[in-house]
Order: sequence, then C-alpha cells, then structure tokens
Amino acid sequence: MCLSLKELYQMLQLPVYMDNNATTPCDPRVVDAMLPYFTRHFGNAASRSHAYGWEAEEAVKFAREQVAALIGAEPGEIVFTSGATEADNLAIKGVFDMYKNKGNHIITVATEHKAVLDTCRHIEKEGAEITYLPVNKDGTVDLLQLESAIRPTTILVAIMYANNETGTIQPIRSISAIAKKHSLIFFSDAVQAAGKIPVDVNADSIDLAALTAHKIYGPKGVGALYVRRKNPRVRLTPQLDGGGHEKGIRSGTLNVPGIVGFGKAAELASETWATEGVRLSRLRDKLENALLQLADVSVNGNRNSRLPHVTNLSFADAESEGLMIGFNKNVAVSSGSACTSASLEPSYVLKAMGVNDSAALASLRFSLGRFTTEEEVNYAIEQVSAGVRKMRGLVSI
Ligand code: PLP
Repeated sequence: MCLSLKELYQMLQLPVYMDNNATTPCDPRVVDAMLPYFTRHFGNAASRSHAYGWEAEEAVKFAREQVAALIGAEPGEIVFTSGATEADNLAIKGVFDMYKNKGNHIITVATEHKAVLDTCRHIEKEGAEITYLPVNKDGTVDLLQLESAIRPTTILVAIMYANNETGTIQPIRSISAIAKKHSLIFFSDAVQAAGKIPVDVNADSIDLAALTAHKIYGPKGVGALYVRRKNPRVRLTPQLDGGGHEKGIRSGTLNVPGIVGFGKAAELASETWATEGVRLSRLRDKLENALLQLADVSVNGNRNSRLPHVTNLSFADAESEGLMIGFNKNVAVSSGSACTSASLEPSYVLKAMGVNDSAALASLRFSLGRFTTEEEVNYAIEQVSAGVRKMRGLVSI
C-alpha cells in the first residue's frame, strides 16, 4: 500500500516533538525496567536486614554500573542525585566549601545553564570570586582567555560539554589540558552531550560531570554527579545532610525506580549513540538546509562542532514567539532553554555569542530525538516555512 503525503501526515502524532533538549520521552524499555521497582521490588536500598532492601540495593548497583559505563567511569564514582540541577549545585558548592582554604576563585562561562550560573551567583554572596568568560561568535570558549583568567586562588574550572540552546560542543580536551596544567579541578555539565556523543571522563580528563536521565529517554527527577576518585581524588562537602547515603556525599533515600530507569536509559544510549548520531545529523541537516532556503535565515552556533540532533536558527523579521503561536499545534520547538522559555527576553546564550537582540528574539531551537522520523522532519519543514512566510507577510495561508 502506498500512502499519499497527506495520509502520512494524518498519521503523525501532533504536535511533532522537536524539543528533545528540553526533555525526552521515556523509552518504553526504560519504563518496563522501572515498573517492578514501584510495586514488587519496592524496598529501600539502605535496608540491610531483609530481601526487599537487598534487591533494591542490587538494582541500584547494576544501574550504577550502567551509568558509569556511559562515560567511562568506575561505578564507585557515580553519586545519584535528583537531577542535573542538584548535581551542578553539589559540584560547585561542594568544591567551593571543601577547597576554601586553597582559594575562592572559580572560572565558568557566560553561556552555561542557569543551574551553573545561578549557583555561582549564590556563592559569590559567600565570598567566591567568579570569572564568567565570554565566548566566541560560535559559542566556544577562547582558550587563551581561559588560561589568562587563572589566578593563584583558582580552584575550579566549570565549563559545559555541549550547550543546550545551540548544541555547540566546547573544546573539552583543550580546556581540561589547561585545567590540569594548573592543577585545577575541572567540572563539566555533560547533560546534553552524554549519550549523544562520546563522553569519556578519562580520555577527556574530567574530574566532575553532571548527568540527568530525562535527556536520554529516562525518567525525570533523577541524575548523577560523576566524582573522580583517583588522579586526583576529588573531595566534596555534602550539600544535604542526613542518613549518609551515597558514601555521605548525598543523603536521602534512593529513588530506586528512577535509578533503575536511568541505568537502562544509559545502557540504551551507550548502544545507540553512534548510529543515532549519524541518523539524526542527516535529518537535522535536511531540516536546516531546507529552512536555510528561506531568505535571511542564519545558524546560531558552531556548525563544525555541534551535537548531531540540534540546530538553532534565526529567521529575520519573524519573531519567534509569534512564529510558535502560529504553528505550535503542529510542531513543538522552543526559542531557548525550557528553564527560561517563559521569559520574553532574548536568550542570554545567543546574546553572549554576539547575536543582536532582534535576531535572538527571532530564533528557534530544533532538537530532534530517538523517535523523530523523516516524515516528521518533512512536515516540520512545511509548517515552519509556511509560518515564516506568513509572519513576514509574503503570502497568506
Ligand atoms: N544543565 C543543562 C545543560 C541542561 O540542559 C539542563 C536541563 O535543562 C540542566 C542542567 C538541568 O537538569 P535537570 O532538569 O535534571 O535538573
């Protein structure tokens, strides 16, 4: 049977979801893995006196191995958290508190996620000195600026692996080489990169890394902080006090179903990132090239060093809020990060890259994912192109 384009489009689940950097749907295999841990195996992983506890502990141990394998870490280096916001807080506040006697200076970048920037702002009130490095036009850090920002009091470099709004990948190995040369701890928020491109904490010389399950087809509300245990051993001051879970670094009863789901999601991502990367970059390029056919469209970010599933485009004279109102019943995208999407301010990430206010306010982020199909991409091309033309008043639809 050969379906017409119209029939094919009628079969699409609308709106077509192209906001996978905000969050991803749970993979059904992840849900299947989690379900028994809500009902049959509901034990507390810290209960040492009976089988319910042992089973839960065993499941967490296995998930820890799965998550560690995704980034080339040892299982004992994974600290489970409630997500990446908590992991970012724990990394930065934990280092600041632990290494206060060594120094109070931290280097980060203007385009980091708010979970990093606002944490830095918070500890500034407690005496931290923070350098917010600018970025180049393509969103990457200038390595000379990074090195010259280092002071005798610097204790930490906090630079994300890949940006959530543009997909730009930072030159991580060059950054970590500079951090290592000066014996600084290097923390990377790897939320958007892990499971999408190869992230290896040893090859990349990362000392601390934040991860979250819901960007890799796992559940929301569970994440992890990777904490290097040797060469060097990184120590952190806990930010939650209580029962001493996670070797005392993060107290609180473990979210066993969530952790099991995170483990399964990490395992699936380890198996599929390479083939998915090829498939998604082809679909992303198709979408991007088609939309670039419209006049005055520009790509924000580094096209040579970018996550395979992301494109961020500015459509001159087509303000993104209006555009999205026009097509958001049909295509779900965003104009920046989900955390700041309620604000009508131009994206601070794009502004830091030198994008002017009107281009920043006319930008859309498309982030494809595991369940994105070619039909959906074709449909999005039609819908977005029509929306842009309409906004620009060229044709009426
Ligand atoms: N860091 C980055 C780069 C992100 O994109 C996000 C999610 O939007 C976070 C941190 C926060 O993660 P979570 O939602 O798990 O708290």
